[in-house]
Amino acid sequence: MGLMDGLEALGLGGLGKIKIFEEEKEEKKPEPEKKADKTIQEEDILLEKQFECSVCDRKFKQLTVRPNKVRPLGQDSILRPIYKDVEPIKYDVILCPFCGYAALSRYHGPLAKPHRQLIKDNISANFRQMPTECGSTLSYEDSFTRYKLALLNSVVRQGKNSEKAFICLKTAWLIRSWKDAVREDSLEKKKFERDVAPQEREYLHNALEGFIKAMANEQPPYAGMNEMTLNYLIGALCVELNENLTDGARVLQEVITSTSTNATDRLKDKSRDLLIEIRNLMKKNKEQ
Ligand SMILES: [Zn+2]
Repeated sequence: MGLMDGLEALGLGGLGKIKIFEEEKEEKKPEPEKKADKTIQEEDILLEKQFECSVCDRKFKQLTVRPNKVRPLGQDSILRPIYKDVEPIKYDVILCPFCGYAALSRYHGPLAKPHRQLIKDNISANFRQMPTECGSTLSYEDSFTRYKLALLNSVVRQGKNSEKAFICLKTAWLIRSWKDAVREDSLEKKKFERDVAPQEREYLHNALEGFIKAMANEQPPYAGMNEMTLNYLIGALCVELNENLTDGARVLQEVITSTSTNATDRLKDKSRDLLIEIRNLMKKNKEQ
């Protein structure tokens, strides 16, 4: 008797040979799924957006990063956000191609009349109109020029120290990102190392100077940062530049001992690590 006998009456004959359990087959490993190419193309994160210039009132289009299209994977010690495949920082300066008014997106908006006049007199008067087409992406070189213009505009319209410092910081971030992007052994790399790389330190130095001044004369937020984050950043810049180490140690100590909710455990940990680095640098500097 087979287990299935008796089912013929139900029309289910011919099952005598059916196997209840399948023979164990050699287990086939599922083929690894082919990884989809997840490299994001810079064009994919961009869109053309229309802006109205706060100085000459003309309308212009430029490339901006689509909201929610990119998320940083992390950040380095000087708070530079690190992205995979693309660099949205390149697109953060809004520049009017007609009159030369440029500002970081966070500072772009209506301007007071005297500030408009300062820009008209000191920038627009000499500015040569730029091409108005957006193109599909921005080169690092063009983006670097835009950052320089943003800094110049901020200086001309007497922007806050925190604003000028933040532009310098972001310019240094851009240079770092550019450094990662230039190919080894290329002509471009040689040119980059000769002409651009040395400027990273200069921008960081100016960022540090500006943020120290901002801390003394402005109220938070400083370019969107609370006091504790700025303390940490000042400490990090001191370490990076091996400058103002005593001041750096002091502001990091403030984060570590602060009871403010802005001094998070993570920020305190990072500040402790930097404080160790400052002490090591101080020792080394003495030995030299
Ligand atoms: Zn304009």
